[in-house]
Amino acid sequence: MAPNLIGSTFLIAETAITNNDANNNKPATLAKSSCKSSHETTAVMRQNSAKPVAQTQSKADGATKEPYKMEIVWFNVFLFVILHSTAFYGAYLMWAENAYLEFLIAYGYAVLGGLGITAGVHRLWSHRAYKARLPLRIFLMLCQSLAFQNSIYEWCRDHRVHHKFTDTNGDPHNSGRGFFFAHMGWLMCKKHPDVKERGKAIDMSDIWADPVVRFQKRFYFVVMPICCFVVPALVPYFVLGSSLQVCFFVCSMARYALSLHATWLVNSAAHFYGMRPYEKNISSVDSKTVSIIAFGEGWHNYHHVFPWDYKAGELGTYKYNWTTAFLDLMARIGQAYDLKSVSQEMILKRVQRTGDGSHSSMIDVNNNNVNINELVSKLDHEKETTLVWGWDDQDICEEDREGALREKAE
Ligand SMILES: [Zn+2]
Ligand SMILES: [Zn+2]
Repeated sequence: MAPNLIGSTFLIAETAITNNDANNNKPATLAKSSCKSSHETTAVMRQNSAKPVAQTQSKADGATKEPYKMEIVWFNVFLFVILHSTAFYGAYLMWAENAYLEFLIAYGYAVLGGLGITAGVHRLWSHRAYKARLPLRIFLMLCQSLAFQNSIYEWCRDHRVHHKFTDTNGDPHNSGRGFFFAHMGWLMCKKHPDVKERGKAIDMSDIWADPVVRFQKRFYFVVMPICCFVVPALVPYFVLGSSLQVCFFVCSMARYALSLHATWLVNSAAHFYGMRPYEKNISSVDSKTVSIIAFGEGWHNYHHVFPWDYKAGELGTYKYNWTTAFLDLMARIGQAYDLKSVSQEMILKRVQRTGDGSHSSMIDVNNNNVNINELVSKLDHEKETTLVWGWDDQDICEEDREGALREKAE
């Protein structure tokens, strides 16, 4: 999952993508892909490296040859120090002032902000995994503003680039540079030029077509501070009569910092620690712990394989996927529709073809001795063929499009 304030837009100006790029309506000219053209091709290439393999579009296409050079942006480091200091002070106040009710309210805000990220900017806008009526889109926009992780437009652009160019120089939080870089280090460093180039090339026309997104982008610096800092502090101040100091540091600052770390775990932990039941040739993993913390976004191996599934995971249970429970409720009351998901048959086919053997359907029949970490560490992501960022990506293979389950489609 993607960025936060201190990331790509206004603080690291030289890495920002200008508004001129906002309506990137370039029609995709690529032929429709076959399902075998992604990681499977990579695996074949690896086994048969002497022979060049034809590709429809290589990840290396359009990439600069510039090696990554880490350059720290000290101003961002300073901002992070301030943010975390205020968050620790909030934690101290909670203990010193017995502000447990305020903590509960802060947790409620974290849930709302979390939904703005998971159900809103991630599954709805970035991946087009379902469609939403105007009231739900407005609600999710306000929740996303509460989470303060950049505007919907910028979040989507960075996230689509992450999916299309995972672990290459074009990936804003390339996990190949280590856990800390993928978690938050990338927000304190200048970005590789490929991030900017990839961001410009990604199709964002569908995002810009949504008036809710355009409204938020235009008034971001009014909407965001009200949603993220002012209202969260004022509600307990007036309702509980708590001190403004406690309300601000607990409900605004500490809650904000904790929510950021919950989101960042999807970029870091869910690319490092876990199993790869669906696709062993990518870094993303399935992690129950991250799923609990990030409201169902930890089934990240599955999600990178099927980014257009509104459940963002195979598991049907709501216990580890609150976001899916929320979306099913929204579908019931008619606010969410055209929810895409993957058939069991498609999942099993994929598991057998490219999984690491850890899927429950494979465990009994496959006593897998392959050292997956070793396998993944040898991957050359620059040679991988194009992945998809979501449902409307032109590169999505026909088999996936035709085999998808669509609930309440219009
Ligand atoms: Zn995603
Ligand atoms: Zn990822």
